[in-house]
Amino acid sequence: MKHRISFLLLTGIFLLCAGCAAYGAVQEEPASLQFFSMDTVMTVNAYGPSGEDGVQAARDAVNRLDGLLSRTDPDSQISQLNAHAGDGTAVPVDPDTAELLSFAQSVSQLLPGDFDVTIAPVMDAWGFTTEARHVPSAEELSAALALVDGSQLEVDADNATARLLQSGMEVDLGAVAKGFAAGKAEEALREAGVERATIDLGGNVTVIGTRPDGNPWRVAVKDPQNTESYLCVLELEDVTLSTSGGYERYFEEDGVRYHHIIDPKTGYPADSGLQSVTVVTANHVLADALSTALFVAGEEEAIDFWRGREDIELVLCTDDNRVVVTEGLEEVFQLYDPDGGYTYEIARR
Ligand code: AMP
Ligand code: MG
Repeated sequence: MKHRISFLLLTGIFLLCAGCAAYGAVQEEPASLQFFSMDTVMTVNAYGPSGEDGVQAARDAVNRLDGLLSRTDPDSQISQLNAHAGDGTAVPVDPDTAELLSFAQSVSQLLPGDFDVTIAPVMDAWGFTTEARHVPSAEELSAALALVDGSQLEVDADNATARLLQSGMEVDLGAVAKGFAAGKAEEALREAGVERATIDLGGNVTVIGTRPDGNPWRVAVKDPQNTESYLCVLELEDVTLSTSGGYERYFEEDGVRYHHIIDPKTGYPADSGLQSVTVVTANHVLADALSTALFVAGEEEAIDFWRGREDIELVLCTDDNRVVVTEGLEEVFQLYDPDGGYTYEIARR
């Protein structure tokens, strides 16, 4: 197994192995660009004569969205939207911002109680936006929760404006921005003429085409209990995957660990019996949204949700160390280390 490590793309971490092209007899080196955007180290590798142009276009596309969507940049459109909460202003936004806001709102409706794009005040109450992380008081938390209501966000896609109806409300696109950016990065690569590439936006990995030798890409999902190692490996082509887990961002207080994926029903970090959720699909932003939402939802609701759709596949890692893999991935899935303490089972329709 060891020799395979250098071939893996790693979801949920920022480093995409430099050796992705260096396996076996394959000689071709990709154009490779690593950059920091959306608070994450990102890596794009692209093969072929357009590779160099492609990786730069992909980076530019991601950076442009970071400028529009960041909640911590006071000049971003999201900051402007948040600053005008409750004052009646319909804030003009880029069509991309409007599209993402509408999409995020539709996810709130699809999985109510699991996902809410106006979760920002709760993120702030926990100090996740700053470095001053702490357990909020009950009063602080209930005041923050009172401001969480995705239905109080109005998006006018035709006129490209958005408005928050209640003062103090704030939008946080942290659950979907990287997936949206991954879609735009893929578009930029394809427009440049790239047919084989990997895009690693930290937790969101997209593979375009096959490896240069014609074989599928091997994408590794991090082990949520040991982020130096991996849970499983998936062999994939032309697809995107997103992993959400409590291990990505957390702090400890009085020996208890608190992570950054919030259950909007309680205002507390989701405790649904899952360690991580990976969503595999062709739709980048959907993958990102659902990995977050289904992490909150838990195993049963996630599998029920999967049964209702044809366009997604899942890998769930449960608190009791089972890896639940939906049947569409059966042929392409393997546990990274069969003796690593995890068992796996296939969920069927
Ligand atoms: P991800 O890493 O894609 O799972 O997204 C986690 C981020 O999404 C957090 O850092 C928050 O910015 C945001 N978030 C946390 N909980 C939720 C939720 N229940 N619904 C929507 N966004 C959330
Ligand atoms: Mg997400």
